[in-house]
Amino acid sequence: MLEVKNVSKQYKGEDKLLFDAVSDVSLSMADHRIYALVGESGCGKSTLSRLILGLESPSSGQILLDGKPISRKRKNNRKETAKAIQLVLQDGKSALDPHFTVYQVIAEPLRNLLALPKDKERSRVYELLDRMELPKESAAKKTGELSGGQQKRIGIARALAVSPRYIVFDESISGLDVILRKNILELLKRIQEEEQCSYLFITHEIDAALYLADEIHVMQNGKLIESRQWNGDLKIFQNPYTKQLLRASHLI
Ligand code: ADP
Ligand code: MG
Repeated sequence: MLEVKNVSKQYKGEDKLLFDAVSDVSLSMADHRIYALVGESGCGKSTLSRLILGLESPSSGQILLDGKPISRKRKNNRKETAKAIQLVLQDGKSALDPHFTVYQVIAEPLRNLLALPKDKERSRVYELLDRMELPKESAAKKTGELSGGQQKRIGIARALAVSPRYIVFDESISGLDVILRKNILELLKRIQEEEQCSYLFITHEIDAALYLADEIHVMQNGKLIESRQWNGDLKIFQNPYTKQLLRASHLI
């Protein structure tokens, strides 16, 4: 269980005054479930993701993994957190070093976190490529030579490599054309079923959230303003802001 408990994060704004980028957010994430965090640009989604990954510390509140505060302060804790919670970023290009080969990119977390013997590492990398529906030959390619869609798949393979219990996707499908986006969403759904892990799927695109998630959490100005179990009935959404998002996506 991953628990976000009354978490706030303050930053200094342009006017030099402190403001809450994340404000009193609570969210419990059980195993084997998909959670979506939906909201417009600037509402605090990425800040919350950095807090959950332990890349920054909350100004107040706590983030607990199985009841223990997550922390990247000490090397061992950092490794434990990274094994349990992995991140997939939006932009494949900037997230992946273009000079690295696909093999190196996928093998890196295996080396850092699991220290597998070479033959196990090799078979795991090729297994992941296969599951991402990428040809074996792509292992030797530089990530910069790949298409946008292939880069997405490499980013996902890399996050999946250590079999984390939680994967945070921060705008991971944003900016893809419709067909590619649909393919990646279907792939994510299948992978989650196979791996039995949990996702925190962060997006400004509410239709993608509705496609994927078991639970929808809507964020506005740093706060969670509506949280629902998603049962396929759009009428469950009551908050005017959520309705505005649904209307903007032509869903209601
Ligand atoms: P989102 O991911 O939903 O677009 P962010 O979490 O990136 O939102 O940003 C939330 C707010 O916090 C924005 O107003 C942003 O400018 C501000 N912010 C984010 N990171 C920092 C930082 N390191 N220092 C100051 N302000 C920040
Ligand atoms: Mg963001």
